[in-house]
Amino acid sequence: MAEKSKALRGIPAVEQIVQRLSQTSLPRPAIVAVVRREIASLRNEKQIPDPDAILARVQQAISDLRSARIQPVINGTGVLIHTNLGRAPLGDVVTETLTTIAANYNNLEFDLSGGERGGRAAYLEHNLALLCGAEAATVVNNCAAALVLILRHFAKPPRDEVVISRGELIQIGGGFRIPEILEASGARLREIGTTNKTSLADYAKAIRRETALVLKVHRSNFFMSGFVDSPATEEIAALARKHRVPFVEDLGSGAIVATEKIAPIEHEPTPAEALKRGVDLVCFSGDKLFGGPQAGIIAGKQQHIAKLKREPFFRALRCDKLILSAVQTTVDVYLAGEDSLLLQMIQTPIETLRARAEKIIAESKGSPLRIAIGQGKSQLGGGTLPRSTIPSVTLDITPDGPVADFAARLRSASPPIIGYISAGKYKLDLRTVFAGQDAQIIQALRN
Ligand SMILES: *Cc1c(COP(=O)(O)O)cnc(C)c1O
Repeated sequence: MAEKSKALRGIPAVEQIVQRLSQTSLPRPAIVAVVRREIASLRNEKQIPDPDAILARVQQAISDLRSARIQPVINGTGVLIHTNLGRAPLGDVVTETLTTIAANYNNLEFDLSGGERGGRAAYLEHNLALLCGAEAATVVNNCAAALVLILRHFAKPPRDEVVISRGELIQIGGGFRIPEILEASGARLREIGTTNKTSLADYAKAIRRETALVLKVHRSNFFMSGFVDSPATEEIAALARKHRVPFVEDLGSGAIVATEKIAPIEHEPTPAEALKRGVDLVCFSGDKLFGGPQAGIIAGKQQHIAKLKREPFFRALRCDKLILSAVQTTVDVYLAGEDSLLLQMIQTPIETLRARAEKIIAESKGSPLRIAIGQGKSQLGGGTLPRSTIPSVTLDITPDGPVADFAARLRSASPPIIGYISAGKYKLDLRTVFAGQDAQIIQALRN
């Protein structure tokens, strides 16, 4: 291997560079691969930089790779369900379950009373149904998967039309578009009404022999006002029942508690409400307002759930033991009348946040930064309740240099700190920072 043994046109050999690199915590083969790639790209350049510049370049590439590793970060954005930062964090009870299940064998598919093969997640499904006020419930990989499974199951030629209002053909976050999901599931879209108005008559006209199901999609991440109308869920449900067509609602976020009672925010529809109004099946995310791990929860009629679970495709979407145990504990926390970590964060009183801010400022004395207490507006995020904000407390920091450079420096702290810039100041919203992380913030601000 020529590149290993001798330097080429002033480019040092791979080994030479690897030896000169300061200690990194990455596996050696990963470092060697980065060095090789950088050397290969140097070969295509007219001007070869000096060895120190080459080393700096390699070091930068390695540091970029290291920062892409999934690792804990401190979320100072005030966005509670931040999709880029892993959505809902899990509380102690749930993470304890994860640790013990991960480290041990378990009864995932074993019936402890009979001593033989058992059903997967039977306890979870039992309690989840109870929590959703449903006859039955099950769990798949995420809400997108839940919807695909439902569509593939119900929409099969010649009955493959899915009736949906034009006002609900929405896009959620990165690349999840209802019309495209429908198409990818082999269903035919039968759009009805207009963007702002859809009537019961529109539904009635559209339902025919080819209709596989009526789909309602919660407009989770945007909101319409003005000349807007759509029939009540009860009315659509009665119509669907009359024509013996299943009625499915994608709730998106799936709040379990009455959100308007725990914070000055709007009401988010719960699975139990939708089912009570006559929807046959609901699906929602596990890691949005539900406050659990990434999962797609389906709840509703026993006969439908049983058939969905028998679909061969269900096998491709099923969750592993870690996710199932985390959902199981999250469900039990709710059933015990306790709050998920996410709900606790939503409800943290502003006085508590202010006291923490004062302490952080007092303990950051000696740092050259100017830090003041500001008013924040935390958001739910994750495409949930876009109009609702929760009053919060921020640390408003005026750095001595450019604020973007300061933000970059905090992102390279350990653990990385992610805030936001507003009116030329760098801000950290304390509602999304755990109290246990305050010391790390003080440490970073002092440095
Ligand atoms: C977020 C959302 C989804 C996608 O959920 P994932 O769990 O991220 O797959 C689907 N539908 C609606 C209405 C949503 O809000």
